[in-house]
Amino acid sequence: MKTYRFLKDLIISYAGWLTYFSYLDDLVMNFSERIRDEEHLSEMCLEESRRLGLRELILTRFTEDDSQVSLTKSGLCRVHINYGQAHRSVLRHELKHVKNRAFGSEFKYFFEEEPRAILYETFGLDL
Ligand SMILES: [Zn+2]
Repeated sequence: MKTYRFLKDLIISYAGWLTYFSYLDDLVMNFSERIRDEEHLSEMCLEESRRLGLRELILTRFTEDDSQVSLTKSGLCRVHINYGQAHRSVLRHELKHVKNRAFGSEFKYFFEEEPRAILYETFGLDL
């Protein structure tokens, strides 16, 4: 069972990084719906959260920094979307991190959670 899990994770990681390096996610971003303003971001977040089965309140905001997810001190999820990359696919990527509770920057984040988010953003695969 552990071997199966390891192979599954390896395949997910490989596919995710392959997608990342081929810039498919950037291509998808350019064809996905543009987020017009903060209100549109909030509405789209609600819609995409429901699609992923998230029930929690998520705070959204545009930023000039990289898009990211974090937790407030009171434990609420916060999604910051870079205004220059304000597209539905980027929001979907960040919401996948919320679903997987991936708020860190450790090894697992880069080699497991990031590829999963890229696969969801690019192909809609919720692994
Ligand atoms: Zn990510």
